[in-house]
Amino acid sequence: MADNTAGFWETPAAKVLRFRPGMQIADLDRRGTPGFVGGKTEGTRVLHERGAVLSSLQEKLHANGRSGDNRSVLLVLQGMDTAGKGGMVRHVIGHVDPQGVDHVAFGVPTEEEKRHHFLWRVTKALPRGGQLGVFDRSHYEDVLVVRVHDLVPESVWCGRYDEINQFERELVGTGTTLVKVAMFVSLDEQKSRLQERLERPDKYWKYNPGDVTERKLWPAYQDAYQAMLDKTSTDDAPWYVVSCDRKWYSRIAVSELLIHAFEGLRLEWPPADFDIDTEKRRLAES
Ligand code: ADP
Repeated sequence: MADNTAGFWETPAAKVLRFRPGMQIADLDRRGTPGFVGGKTEGTRVLHERGAVLSSLQEKLHANGRSGDNRSVLLVLQGMDTAGKGGMVRHVIGHVDPQGVDHVAFGVPTEEEKRHHFLWRVTKALPRGGQLGVFDRSHYEDVLVVRVHDLVPESVWCGRYDEINQFERELVGTGTTLVKVAMFVSLDEQKSRLQERLERPDKYWKYNPGDVTERKLWPAYQDAYQAMLDKTSTDDAPWYVVSCDRKWYSRIAVSELLIHAFEGLRLEWPPADFDIDTEKRRLAES
């Protein structure tokens, strides 16, 4: 579909944001807008216009799913508190017909989940054929918060990187396109977002005192994120690194990454499984 809003990208998002071996997140400008030539005004317009493109592509996937195609797309959103995961779901996925979306948010594992392998709850939540799955947090918590807080011995979390790579390879092999987005907010921007939650009654519900405790562990989290990117960005399932201090940018970046993934599926509308002329005649006569 011709759409000149994509022209605001001087380098395609899927290229400029893809994690490259050796890339250091300590050097990442979290207020940056890599690849995009416009500012907030253009970004807001682009988000809207590309949202319509995303919606149409997703509808095609859904239509194919209804006809037995088992392919799916899974967006994995992983980021620190206040990075904007919830807003991403509202403002990017919000463009898409909800019946085509399987959204799951992963919190602290329940007692039942704790009794199982860490991939158990993730496997249960995978998108069905034809669906756009969205993971707000994911199996990567098991090498992030779990690593930072020593929730299991190092010998256990250490082996999880390989387990995840194997799991994702199989997922891709059975028709799921993974779009893994690591969302990075700066320590200062996180502080101002938390402050806002303390100042606005409509945001109190988002405030969790534990988030301030976690800020003290910022360096350990950054190390854990770096290790995650170094060890689990594969050809099958690469990571994309998105700067999130400017929400408008992170949102257009993710919508572009999703569009890229959908376009890679080269979807067509499924053919009619009935005789069109016969049905036209029957309808006319009814
Ligand atoms: P959010 O903070 O994303 O709005 P919640 O308030 O439900 O959502 O918080 C989710 C919490 O669950 C986070 O602190 C996260 O680190 C934690 N969590 C998610 N997965 C795991 C896991 N596998 N082990 C321990 N904690 C986890």
